[in-house]
Amino acid sequence: MGIFSKFRKKSPWILHYNTGGCNGCDIEILSALAPRYDIERFGMLNRGNPKQADILLVTGPVTKNCKDVLRRLYLEMAEPKVVVAMGACAHGGGIFRDFYHVENGVNSIIPVDVWIPGCAPRVEALIDEMVEAIEIWQKKSKEKEYLKDHENVINKLGVEDDD
Ligand code: SF4
Repeated sequence: MGIFSKFRKKSPWILHYNTGGCNGCDIEILSALAPRYDIERFGMLNRGNPKQADILLVTGPVTKNCKDVLRRLYLEMAEPKVVVAMGACAHGGGIFRDFYHVENGVNSIIPVDVWIPGCAPRVEALIDEMVEAIEIWQKKSKEKEYLKDHENVINKLGVEDDD
């Protein structure tokens, strides 16, 4: 493992994106960042730049307006990366399921590694699953399994080859 991978292992950076939820899940994320829970003690930092992020934390049912942005954010993140879908909306649309303006969940747009159930999930559940996300990230880094399925993922995302 190279020196940069060692540093990243200790401090995965998070990119949070709300794809059209009610903000209930986002308030729980803010609680996790506040002093009472202080998720930064695990080395996690909330960043706004996909190129610097290791974990994509998505809330909301994925509206049609947000789906292309979500796909682009995912593609701009460096490998290995982990996607965490938080809340019932991110699972399958939740209370917005089958509305005219939603895609019914994150999994219909990009691959998801970790699910956090609930509406809204408790902060403790968020912290638990983020620790799981770090473990998955470490496993992906070690086994380079993201390379095995890379072509399928790129095809699913509808990315055209530059050649
Ligand atoms: S899962 Fe519940 S709290 Fe979270 S965005 Fe959807 S409706 Fe809001």
